[in-house]
Amino acid sequence: MKNQCQSCGMPMKGKPDLAGTEVDGRKSALYCHYCYQDGAFTQPTFTVEEMQQFCIARMKEQGFPALLAWLFVRKLPKLKRWSEAGA
Ligand SMILES: [Zn+2]
Repeated sequence: MKNQCQSCGMPMKGKPDLAGTEVDGRKSALYCHYCYQDGAFTQPTFTVEEMQQFCIARMKEQGFPALLAWLFVRKLPKLKRWSEAGA
């Protein structure tokens, strides 16, 4: 298990129930269940920019200040899902 989802950056350390699922039902070691279910991304057409907007909206809903949300999503392009795209 990584410390954070490699798609949206959600902290997953110590929270195995947040893990996504593979086709065979195993827990994903890389992605959370918001991003990845049954072996596929839930938003397969997302670009990293769209994921950033999605995360900012979700964090604002949860009461995060916009500045903190922005600082958080700046790291998203370094995550596995996005850093390997097109490589
Ligand atoms: Zn995720």
